[in-house]
Amino acid sequence: MNIENPYAGMETRQWLRGNLHAHTTASDGRKPIQDVINSYATLGYDFLMISDHDIVTGPADYAKLDPRGLILIPGNEVTRNGPHLLHVGADQRIEPDADRQLVINAINAGPGFAVINHPNWEHDFNHWSFDQLDEWQNYLGMEIFNGTIGRLDGSPYATDKWDRLLSRGRRIWGFANDDSHLPVEDVGLGWNMVGTTDRSVAGLMDAMRRGCFYGSTGVNITAIAVTGNRIRVETENADRILAYHQTGMEFARVDANAIEIEVPTRARYVRFECLGRGGRAAWTQPFYLEAE
Ligand SMILES: [Zn+2]
Ligand SMILES: [Zn+2]
Repeated sequence: MNIENPYAGMETRQWLRGNLHAHTTASDGRKPIQDVINSYATLGYDFLMISDHDIVTGPADYAKLDPRGLILIPGNEVTRNGPHLLHVGADQRIEPDADRQLVINAINAGPGFAVINHPNWEHDFNHWSFDQLDEWQNYLGMEIFNGTIGRLDGSPYATDKWDRLLSRGRRIWGFANDDSHLPVEDVGLGWNMVGTTDRSVAGLMDAMRRGCFYGSTGVNITAIAVTGNRIRVETENADRILAYHQTGMEFARVDANAIEIEVPTRARYVRFECLGRGGRAAWTQPFYLEAE
């Protein structure tokens, strides 16, 4: 069995913390853009993407501001006419066509990539229905955690839809973002730890495309190693780690800060959830498996 390890060489990479989903007074956020940047800089973040609704915030906008040491990624949240998605690394405004496949195709024709937003928002938990997620192709990832949905209808988590898609053989990376609108309450809820060799927008984008990152709400992963058909995950502060494969089936669990598993022979993918105190978590990306 061949295990694709998106974290190969992770010990040689620098691990940068960032949020790809933040609003400002340019759309429906409560704080001007410089204040939003300041909030994340104060928390010690390394990168941030401003994602106002159908508004691209790009290099020319960022150049007028003090980055406070943050790497600022050009971005947009495609919003009108349908379910929301992030244009990460946006070089131009994409017309928010109701056919989201056209939007995703237009994003993919440029340097950026598409990330599905808050699939389980709204009273029916179906901001993005499973059928839409199943039908539309070539988005790089989806928010498996969106902090702000915690105070709105639906669920901030979307690992349920993620497992269903992965079980069908789809390749989709899991992101954790704040979607911050409120100045204090929404900031620092969920973030991505990205392993990059290059501290730049391009370096971060490349690492995320490869899946060399994990979403977190407070658990830190310190090492991931693949040896033969075994995977080991070590954390700083988890007290329970769960291993899942297709259809969301849990096949291993430890009450410890590290786990080592043998990949089940018929697994199509495996992924890990690391749980810590106070509801903190970290989600590894799926390890895709190919029979040799
Ligand atoms: Zn949204
Ligand atoms: Zn948003």
